[in-house]
Amino acid sequence: MSFSIFGLAISSGIAIGRAHLVSHATLEVAQYQLRERDVEAEVARLEAAFAAVSGELDALREEAAQPGTPAEIEAFVDLHAMILADPMLAEEPKILIRERRCNAEWALVQQMRLLAAQFDEIDDAYLRERKQDIVQVVERVVKVLMGKPRKLARRIRDEDLIIVAHDLSPADTIQFKNLRIGGFITDLGGATSHTAIVARSLKIPAVVGMHHARPLIQDDDLLIVDGSRGVLIVDPDERVLAEYRIRKSALELERSKLKRLTTARANTLDEVEISLQANIELPQDIDQVKTVGADGVGLFRTEFLFMNRDELPDEDEQFEAYRSVAKALAGKPVTIRTLDIGADKTSRALRGSDRPTPNPALGLRAIRYCLAEPQTFLAQLRAILRASAYGRVRLLIPMLVHVKEIEQTLALVEYAKAQLRQARLKFDEGIEIGGMIEVPAAALSVGLFLKRLDFLSIGTNDLIQYTLAIDRADETVAHLYDPLHPAVLRLIAQTIQAGERAGRPVSVCGEMAGEPAMTRLLLGMGLRFFSMHPAQLLEVKQQVVMADTQLLAVKVNRLLRADDPERIRELLARLSEI
Ligand code: PEP
Ligand code: MG
Repeated sequence: MSFSIFGLAISSGIAIGRAHLVSHATLEVAQYQLRERDVEAEVARLEAAFAAVSGELDALREEAAQPGTPAEIEAFVDLHAMILADPMLAEEPKILIRERRCNAEWALVQQMRLLAAQFDEIDDAYLRERKQDIVQVVERVVKVLMGKPRKLARRIRDEDLIIVAHDLSPADTIQFKNLRIGGFITDLGGATSHTAIVARSLKIPAVVGMHHARPLIQDDDLLIVDGSRGVLIVDPDERVLAEYRIRKSALELERSKLKRLTTARANTLDEVEISLQANIELPQDIDQVKTVGADGVGLFRTEFLFMNRDELPDEDEQFEAYRSVAKALAGKPVTIRTLDIGADKTSRALRGSDRPTPNPALGLRAIRYCLAEPQTFLAQLRAILRASAYGRVRLLIPMLVHVKEIEQTLALVEYAKAQLRQARLKFDEGIEIGGMIEVPAAALSVGLFLKRLDFLSIGTNDLIQYTLAIDRADETVAHLYDPLHPAVLRLIAQTIQAGERAGRPVSVCGEMAGEPAMTRLLLGMGLRFFSMHPAQLLEVKQQVVMADTQLLAVKVNRLLRADDPERIRELLARLSEI
């Protein structure tokens, strides 16, 4: 039966594909006692299920061998086949069935739990993570036992895979970079959560905050994810499917037309030059940055280098990552933000960064964490400084609130420089140091920041979160997360204007900068430096080249004096007529 569910549109585009549930709900199996005479039939049922999964994997392997299928799929099928054949998984549950006269699903899940606990003890991070593979193999067998065989094998090449999850962390999402995922939907999550940000950077359509979608969807259901309207259609009929296929092609055509703007200068109609830079999470994102012709990297979120691993990246590894980006951009600016760990971004490699705290967004996050862990911070500062010898590197400090945080940071930068001089390692002595304006206190005392720093970057995602007291990752308050709240607009405008008066560049690197509907508003406030996920850059450029900053400034001044939300929206809509 076809039905639709609505959520928050976080990454535009349309995906049509089959559901892939990432949750272990299927492993919550019932236990029941067998009669003695049924025991052998139960063992045979388990063996048959193993054989069926083995057949599924063979079919999958055949598909994976076809040209055009990513190589990881084949490796993953081989690994799963190996796990399936291992006697620890294939034989031990049979003993349990015979000894305890229990059902096959339950015996298998018990054995899986035992193996998983052993994996938790392993030191080697790679091997420890293989626990997930065991869980996935067991899920396959349990589904067969419960009469729900997977049909993924047939479809792997011609349809996208759509991840359906209750929740995904930024660390989960970043792993999609290596896989071919068509789209994803989650029950939890807010529009500017880091999970959403990573989805946008991957250019995969996504809808979050769907509340109870996950339990309503089955593996392999046909889904349409409309990431622009925030809609998920489950099991669409032929007519809807045909309509969405047309819309998908139209969108692709639209995107390909935008490509013509790649080499165009981002100048407004009144010849004001606008700098459009890109936000990245990992060095590999740089290809996309170059493809869209960005003027540099306005925000490198380095914390993603620290996720999904047990050991910290040491100074040399970080240096290599930062240097590769600096070199790839050949003289264009690369703004490397120091570790912004905490809140929804955690790393098991960083001491205490994933410990439960009463209110993580207000806790030991970003620069607060770094100043509390000076050795980790110094290693990163040295790595960034060393990379500055290979391109135009700028250093950006997140979540500053107090002057003393700036001063302590600057002192540590000086200390790191002294260490490098002593070690005779090259770096840019005049490296520019900037701060992020993400907390209302910083925006309201911006003069203190402008005196001490070379540039500012407004992180609107956090500025909105902290101004409106809305957790950006919590879908239950997502409707209150409003970039157009007059308090937010005034804080942004004041910061831009203060920077202009002090002759210091100010950029916006939060999601607002990549929102074409906000481009004219920000231009009218005086913004000249935008940094956004590269997937949005050409759409924003299209707005820039059609805008006149002088006319916009007058209209935006009026908008900034308005308090009524309806009036603000009305005045915003009128900006597009200029
Ligand atoms: C922001 O807060 O707007 C920002 C750019 O930083 P992040 O999204 O990484 O918190
Ligand atoms: Mg932030």
